[in-house]
Order: sequence, then C-alpha cells, then structure tokens
Amino acid sequence: MKVYVSADLPRDLAERLSRAVEVVGRDRMGEAEAALCFRITPEELKSMPRLRFLQVITAGLDHLPWEAIPPHVVVAGNAGSNADAVAEFAVAMALGAYKRVIHYDRRMKRGEYGRDVGIPMAVGSKAAVLGLGEIGTRVAKMLAALGLRVYGFSRTRKEGPWVFTSDLLEAMAGARIAVSALPLNKHTRGLVKYQHLAAMDGEGVFVNVGRAEVVERGAVERILRERPGFIFASDVWWSRSDFAKDADIISLPNVVATPWVAGGYGNELVWRRMLEEAVDNLLRWVNGETPRNIARREDYV
Ligand code: NDP
Repeated sequence: MKVYVSADLPRDLAERLSRAVEVVGRDRMGEAEAALCFRITPEELKSMPRLRFLQVITAGLDHLPWEAIPPHVVVAGNAGSNADAVAEFAVAMALGAYKRVIHYDRRMKRGEYGRDVGIPMAVGSKAAVLGLGEIGTRVAKMLAALGLRVYGFSRTRKEGPWVFTSDLLEAMAGARIAVSALPLNKHTRGLVKYQHLAAMDGEGVFVNVGRAEVVERGAVERILRERPGFIFASDVWWSRSDFAKDADIISLPNVVATPWVAGGYGNELVWRRMLEEAVDNLLRWVNGETPRNIARREDYV
C-alpha cells in the first residue's frame, strides 16, 4: 500500500507509518492509494488516479476542493483530535464576555476605573450549543456543569445534559449564551440569521469557534449596531486568515475577537495529538477497519 504524505510528521510517527505502508513523496504520488494531508489541491488530486482514501489532519473539511475529489474517494476528517482545546476556549470566551470580564479589563487599562454595566448571572440561564459533535458536546457538558439550562442543536438526536432540538430558533430563543461549533458545509452556510441572533437575550453572548460563514455577516453587523449590550465573540472570521478585512466588525466595542487560535495554536501536545490521531485513522483504513469521521460527501457537493 502506497501513501502520499504531504505533512511533516515527527520521526516516530513517520516510522510507525512506514512500518505499515510505503510512504511516497510528490515524485511518486501517481502510485498512491491513500493520502495524508492538511489540504490538497485539484492538481495533486489529478496526479493521484489510484487514490481511494484521503485522511485530512484538520477537523474542518470545508477547505477541500470537493468538486475535484472523485466520488469514490473516501474522505476522513480529524474531529476530536483538538476538541478539548476548542471546547475549553469556547467556554472561556463565553464566560469572559458574558461576565463582562473583558469589558472591565479594557476599561481599567484605559484608566476608566468607574463601574458601568452590571454583571449577569449564568447559573439557571438558558444556553444554546449549535453542533453536537466532538466540540459541541464538550461545551454543552461544561455549560451544564456550570448550572446553565442547555439546549443542544444538530440534525441527529443526541442525548446528554441538554434539551435536544433540531430547530435552531427553539435552541436560540431567550438564550443568554450561544456557542456555535458547527462545521461549514452547504447546509450550514448562512444558517444563523438575524432572526436567530435577535431571538437571544438582548445582553446575550454569541460565541463562534466553528466557521465564520455559518453566521450571516450582515446579521452580525445589524445586531451589534442595534444592541450595544449584545456581545459577539469569535475565533473565526469571514476573511479566513486575512483578519484585517474584518476590522470593521473586530473593532466594535461589543465584539471579542481572537485570530483563529482556539484549536490549541502553538501547543505542542495538541499538535502532536492531531498528527497521531490522523495517522491512527489512516491505519484503520489500511487495516480494513472503518475509519472515524468519514465525511458525508453530500454535505459538501
Ligand atoms: P464534528 O464532526 O464532531 O461535529 C459536527 C456537528 O455538527 C455534529 O453534531 C453534526 O451533527 C452537526 N451538523 C453538521 N451539519 C449540520 C447541519 N446542517 N445542521 C445541524 N447540525 C449539523 O466536528 P467538531 O465538533 O470536531 O468540529 C466542528 C467544527 O469546528 C469543525 O468542522 C471546524 O470547522 C471547527 N473547528 C474550529 C477550530 C478552531 O480553531 N476555531 C478547531 C477545530 C475545529 P449532525 O450531522 O447530526 O447534524
């Protein structure tokens, strides 16, 4: 079995992979039946006519050139490998914003030592978690443990310490904290609209650690303009990594912004685990087992 690897693996992981398969580089990618990568181009795909399995190292799969991936190629993502990191970050963002920690920190640093806004309570309040996957279920459990009444939204029913709903408006209506951990696919693009944000508590916090495009940009602009007490806290931006293009929103006082770091940016342990789990999953396929996180092609094409 020949596998094209376009990611830098630590030596021990590379050796483990090499014991099970023949790793090939660009010069022999035409022989590869499987590939391990962060991203892949249509040109690379064209150069691999024998490809049957694609293991991606990231949880999100929205960056793949789906139209160029032949339908018989099985694509697996890496959800779960950094979900602890993202979930912790989401809850930190939610509480830091909701409890006005960030607000008062900004004021104190500006030399404004007076108090203005009150501090809302989280315990007993409604929270919504959008996407009950690896990240969302962790976030939902953490919020429930803090004493919030959690509504969990996804397509497939999942049991846990939340009220399950597949009705987005029901999940978000009256919520004081909403966290989106939805993947970006053709069904979730633009899913969160003005009516959903407006249905939340006026002093609520909407946190996005999934992908920006799940939320309509215009809806965010409007709600932030209309409700100065509402907070939009996000790690992900419509401009992807060209954050300056979203400066008009990022610079608003009721926005809490981070530059796509929730996945454990700069953390060697998280990084290692992502690579390790991707290799494990690839080897599941090589060994004839069912890999985890197989993408539903119809979500993307
Ligand atoms: P999972 O695949 O484990 O979970 C995705 C969840 O979304 C599932 O519960 C799925 O359930 C739900 N979902 C998918 N499509 C829809 C839909 N159309 N309507 C409602 N629910 C839907 O992924 P993770 O939780 O691990 O990650 C989620 C996303 O977070 C990633 O795709 C990635 O974009 C982002 N991410 C961001 C990071 C960052 O650094 N900020 C780092 C890591 C991930 P069902 O199919 O039943 O609906």
